[in-house]
Amino acid sequence: MPDQPIAGSRYSWSDPASRETLQLIAEGIARLSGFAVVTIGLVRSDDSLQVVAIAGSEEARRDLEDVLIPMADLRAELAEADDWGRLRFVPAERVAATRGAWGWVPELDRLDVEDAWDPHDYLAAPLHDAEGSLVGILSVDVPTDGRRPGEAQREVLNVHAEQAERAVVLALERERLAEQVRVSDAARRIVREASAQLSIERILQDSTAALVEGFRAAGMWLQTTGTPGEVASHVHTSSGEEVSVDPALAALVEQVAQDAWRRQDAVVVAPGHDLPVTPEQREMILDLLRDLDVGSVLFVPLGAGPECVGHLALTRLPGAPVWTAEEAAAALDIGHDLGRAILNARTFEREHHLVRELRALDDYKGRMISTVAHELKNPLASVRGHLDLLELADELSEESRGWLAALDRGAQRMGRVIDDLLLLARVGEAGHPLVARPVDLRQVVADAVDVVALTASRKGVLLHVDLPAHPVTALGDADEIDRVCVNLLSNAVKYTREGGSVTVDLALAGDQAVLTCSDQGIGISAGDQERIGTEFFRSTNPEAVAESGTGLGLAIVRRVIDRHHGHLEIESELGRGSTFRVRLPAA
Ligand code: ADP
Repeated sequence: MPDQPIAGSRYSWSDPASRETLQLIAEGIARLSGFAVVTIGLVRSDDSLQVVAIAGSEEARRDLEDVLIPMADLRAELAEADDWGRLRFVPAERVAATRGAWGWVPELDRLDVEDAWDPHDYLAAPLHDAEGSLVGILSVDVPTDGRRPGEAQREVLNVHAEQAERAVVLALERERLAEQVRVSDAARRIVREASAQLSIERILQDSTAALVEGFRAAGMWLQTTGTPGEVASHVHTSSGEEVSVDPALAALVEQVAQDAWRRQDAVVVAPGHDLPVTPEQREMILDLLRDLDVGSVLFVPLGAGPECVGHLALTRLPGAPVWTAEEAAAALDIGHDLGRAILNARTFEREHHLVRELRALDDYKGRMISTVAHELKNPLASVRGHLDLLELADELSEESRGWLAALDRGAQRMGRVIDDLLLLARVGEAGHPLVARPVDLRQVVADAVDVVALTASRKGVLLHVDLPAHPVTALGDADEIDRVCVNLLSNAVKYTREGGSVTVDLALAGDQAVLTCSDQGIGISAGDQERIGTEFFRSTNPEAVAESGTGLGLAIVRRVIDRHHGHLEIESELGRGSTFRVRLPAA
């Protein structure tokens, strides 16, 4: 019987109630069985017996409480025992020499009778669970009548042993449930903390302590798989350092993780446990554990859906309890949650990378535009200077003057495009941050109205301007806001037919300064409105294309408003007119 397999370590005796129950049972047996000293010990998964209840002797309690007795010694002792049904009796003559190292011998005078109890006699009842696994040992000592028990007393002891067995099994079950709750609580905490993080390093930082503590591990490491076809050759340990691993071993471990994820299984790696690998591979893994001075590992695949993204390994020191089925199940749940968190972090990292690339591309485009515009500026100034000189010449025919005027118009237009390009690049450059100061928008709007007033009156477009009596102050760059006003107003005039009107209105609304520019012009179709403000975009409406323009004005408007943390709203209907509303943070 003592050679029965040993139940897993299921108890930590964190639950004082279980211990108390066993103590009460021991005391009851001490009162009723005719034996003054009674102990109950529990078999631990590290193959030792922990004495958790002692009744009848303070001295025995001092010597035995929580002492771990090697099961090997007990087995050797019980192998010598007489079989008394449930009970095992080893008379003093046969007690093993090693006994002295762990047993307790009462100070007792031996009676001078044939069946006298010897202080070295050992009487115990091995206790088993429903599956027949040895879970504890009840032992009795110091008979009140000073004799070895006869048939009747053995019967009584048998009944007590049965009762103790039930109590031990219940206590273990209770502890197992408490353990399950404790581990899954830890799991929930880990998930909550880790899933908020978007980098694998932070996920680890936040979950390591909870994982190690929750699983009573000595340490842990986590290895994420590289991109497909590439094997990650370093692991993150709980101490925060990254450790290099032999690539062959890393590949093997990754394979084990993939298989475990497919089977939805957490694997216990320890001497004496089966591993789904070849014997050589198993030796390689166990060698590693020995090198790291690790007794056992709970190996948990991490993943989401069909994808395995790495593994988590929780370690325990040699001699510590091996992992239970409940711990493995809770760890697999964590494997799901951590797997999802890692996938999220990876997606975030990829997006981040993409945004960085796009930004770099945008910067490059901005630099390119401003370089080209600068390079065009000087030759264009030279062209315009020479045109001015040519216009002064006397001997030019009317026809030639007409050609010169056309050249001059073209040069002016090129000048506008270059200025717009330079401004567009400037307001989009990271190296040219906004310098915001309070700006009274009434002045800016009045200046912009002055710029377009002549064109409007020449075209027969009526301008209504409604400026409040009090200042409307926005925080920003006066020149840039001026370009916004001029661009919106000149567009309104440009895209409004003769006889139409343009209204400019300025107001404060809460913490925003609101500039509204409405016209009764040609309007913009819903489709075009979606693309308006992207560089070089001009409406598909032929009436709009007939007007000269670069398609850069609104792009500048948008960028300026963006960097002022404002908003641009467009309401427009083809053929009926448009309203552009700019909201800027008020100073
Ligand atoms: P452009 O130099 O072509 O005017 P913008 O960027 O200022 O460039 O405007 C882009 C396009 O938006 C214009 O080509 C025009 O089709 C349309 N648009 C802008 N403002 C108005 C408006 N007030 N009414 C109708 N269409 C407009």
